[in-house]
Amino acid sequence: MNRIKILNDYVINQIAAGEVVERPASVAKELVENSIDAGATKIEVEISQGGRYIRVSDNGAGIHPDDISLAFSRHATSKINSEKDLWNLNSLGFRGEALASILSISHLTCITKTNASESGTKAVSLDNGELDITNIGCATGTTIEVNDLFYNVPARLKFLRSHKTEVAEIIDILQCLAIAHPEVAFVSKHQNKVLLKTSGSGDLPICLNELFPKDILNHLLMLNAIDEREKLFISGVITDPTFTKPNRKSIFTVINGRFVKCPIILKAVERAYDNKITSGKFPLAVLNLILPTDKVDVNVHPTKREVKYTATNNVFAFINYAVKKALEEGDFYIKKSHSITEDKAKEEALKLIKSHDEQEKASPQAKDFKSKRVYDVPKDRILPSLSHSAFELYTPLEESIVVDDTQNAPIDVVSILNEEETEQLIIHPEIIPDAIKDRKQWLIVGQVFNTYIIIQTDDGIQIIDQHIASERAIYDQLKRKELQIAGQRMLIFEETDVTLEQVALIEEYSDLLKKWSYEIEQTEPGRVIIKQVPHLVTGRNQKEIFEDIVSLLENGHSLDLLEDNLTKTIACHAAIKSGEILTLKEMEQIVSQWQKSDYPYTCPHGRKIAHNITIKELSSYFDRQLNYHK
Ligand code: ADP
Ligand code: MG
Repeated sequence: MNRIKILNDYVINQIAAGEVVERPASVAKELVENSIDAGATKIEVEISQGGRYIRVSDNGAGIHPDDISLAFSRHATSKINSEKDLWNLNSLGFRGEALASILSISHLTCITKTNASESGTKAVSLDNGELDITNIGCATGTTIEVNDLFYNVPARLKFLRSHKTEVAEIIDILQCLAIAHPEVAFVSKHQNKVLLKTSGSGDLPICLNELFPKDILNHLLMLNAIDEREKLFISGVITDPTFTKPNRKSIFTVINGRFVKCPIILKAVERAYDNKITSGKFPLAVLNLILPTDKVDVNVHPTKREVKYTATNNVFAFINYAVKKALEEGDFYIKKSHSITEDKAKEEALKLIKSHDEQEKASPQAKDFKSKRVYDVPKDRILPSLSHSAFELYTPLEESIVVDDTQNAPIDVVSILNEEETEQLIIHPEIIPDAIKDRKQWLIVGQVFNTYIIIQTDDGIQIIDQHIASERAIYDQLKRKELQIAGQRMLIFEETDVTLEQVALIEEYSDLLKKWSYEIEQTEPGRVIIKQVPHLVTGRNQKEIFEDIVSLLENGHSLDLLEDNLTKTIACHAAIKSGEILTLKEMEQIVSQWQKSDYPYTCPHGRKIAHNITIKELSSYFDRQLNYHK
């Protein structure tokens, strides 16, 4: 075996790049976050070649000429000084490895100038990872141009998806960054076409209106709440229940200025909409959370999109409360006279938290207040300029959710599901009706509540959910290719709004959609018409089905899995609905087709299909001898 040796920096950086730079979108994210950290108010991102070329220009602070080499070396950062700062989340990047990593896997040019320096600096990467540095005249700010991304990492190159998909992914991330920073004007271009543009107005609803067309402004409700004791602050907007999106991607969470993904927050929002919104639909929401920095750990994920924090249950209950309150109050953005701007409120909250932090440091008894039920700051010190109609003080419910936060455990959604919900996830083998297992004879008794079919089997009665059984039957028939897909031309074409990323996905998967007899045409940017649909779903809500399909495409996955999910979606929409009155013949058809299934216990999504009551149970309930009168 070879002797042990220390790897050189260039190789180390390439290894690190594997962690930080998964795909072109990661490059865009790191560069734009650096621009935001540099205080830029304008950021321009140009993309081509499916993201293998990315240029980010900003009007931020620039890099001092003496710091250029440092900026591109590993663990070099201007954002943390000591170990303590590691746990603070106030700047976007702090690992000091993004630039070094990107440099090691691309051909890169950086042009930068600080306000104070006379001339700018140009740094061009050489193939050995060194930089060629020269002077150049330029405006204050920084432009980083990344060329030939992954040119020396064939494995990554091989796994890049189509140009359109990679670009869509970049736009997706830029959209999140733009929402987290409405004060920054973003422009993103792809082959000279503007794909995303915000004005940097500083007003979140305006920013959303710039990103999502439709009449979103009419649906935005203002969201504001504060928990003094836990020092939690939330502001943002949510949509009223009449405005829905087909997936959770429309719930944006920003913690202390950083866009993050956090399942527990999504769950808290969804719970607040319980019974108000159709299941499977989601609101659009932007939650700006300010949490004490000592409670958040952003170092759990290299690209820092996932966070972990202590006091999970408090955060969950707080967000759930804030969203419910916003829904109840119905404080529509449109109707509001904006006496207090959101930024002002945020500023005040930050001040409040800062003053708490300082107080905690200064006073030896400060630790005590954490255990106190109510933190008693004199009332006039709390958000002096805010009226109580804008901010309601929130007292956490002690009994709300029991999550053990003492372990500082990563957030686990299952742990916040209640018993009933957990129950739904489990299929009990003992309830699988024997009649299904053995395929014995049965007899239709009738339909109840226009939802359930009741049949008598050899050893009991069975209550069958007509929709779920029908869904299972159609899914199985599609899988066995017993049902052929034919196209049904729409009499009146259905029009629907889509984002540019979605258009890209629709184009990328056009073969798959064609296979399902879909005919879709883009009429103008962000708008498509559905001309033809699979005959199985004729007469159904085409817009809804289409949204579901697009959301499947957005979730990615392999082509096989995607096809299977598509089959499930079509089966679900093609199936008999609950509430439909059925004839005896229709009931017989559903039951017999369903019984042919190799897996008749649940629908393809996992919902139970039938409930069995055995004759034995009936006999014992009525104190009878076990006897059959057939
Ligand atoms: P980090 O962001 O974690 O500090 P990076 O490798 O992304 O590490 O950047 C290294 C350093 O380069 C930053 O700390 C910052 O000082 C400087 N820098 C990077 N991009 C910019 C920019 N657009 N404007 C000003 N300074 C920048
Ligand atoms: Mg960075």
